[in-house]
Amino acid sequence: MTSSGKKNSILPVLCTALLLSFTLMAPSCEIKINEVEDNSGYNFNYQGRAGVVISWDDSSVDDWYKARDLFKKYNVRCTFFVTNFCLLSEDEISKLRELQKDGHEIACHGFSHKDAVLYYVENGMDRYVLDEIKPAIDSMRAKGFSPSSFAYPFGSRNSETDEALLKYFRVLRGIVSGNKGNLYCWGRTRILLATAIDDSYHVPLDSIYSTMETASESKEVAVFYGHRIEEGTGTSPGNYATTYGRLEAILKKASQLKLEFFTASELDVRNEASAYSRNVKP
Ligand SMILES: [Zn+2]
Repeated sequence: MTSSGKKNSILPVLCTALLLSFTLMAPSCEIKINEVEDNSGYNFNYQGRAGVVISWDDSSVDDWYKARDLFKKYNVRCTFFVTNFCLLSEDEISKLRELQKDGHEIACHGFSHKDAVLYYVENGMDRYVLDEIKPAIDSMRAKGFSPSSFAYPFGSRNSETDEALLKYFRVLRGIVSGNKGNLYCWGRTRILLATAIDDSYHVPLDSIYSTMETASESKEVAVFYGHRIEEGTGTSPGNYATTYGRLEAILKKASQLKLEFFTASELDVRNEASAYSRNVKP
């Protein structure tokens, strides 16, 4: 269901081995959510403004980096939900740092792209968190990133996974069913439901525009997600990519509507004191 599906059949084993060797060499890294917030640097004062979240899933760092100029042209700040982080090259990690410096958010998409619901039903929630969430956060922290939002691989979530993961992240992102338009209403939830923008999902541009127009009128936030960004047609089944032409059309429309670009974590409108008070035992 996502571009990393094939890749993930062998990557989890490699990734686990790599993190295991890292864990054996390094002192154990305890997760304390209050530390995540301390150095996040995000602005949490946007409540009530009309906007859009553009997010990208998986590990196509080179593609995302190449789109930097386009993002700058429209003052876009995206959220990049990264999976298999420990398999990224140093060059890819440097590119993520550059993207972060540009104002984009580098966020978490699981250690090895496991289906959250399938995994915890079979193995228990504690095991899911230990296998998929903590090592993902640890591997990102080891390279200086502080993920504070999470996108569910395959959009697979329910109230139980939400409850477990909101102890680790400010905001969780799922996907809408049937690729309908969906709007985030400020302060109502910390679960974002995103509409796909990749060409291969065939969501009509008019429908995406209409969602953004409603966001503009109602002062809410339209949430979108894609995977790769590429030249070409991008419409063949299984090619999870948004083409430059389509992406620019969406960004242009958002700009015309004067929508602001927010990152996922910026939609957490709890006050800082309550956000910082959540201490999570590892
Ligand atoms: Zn994915």
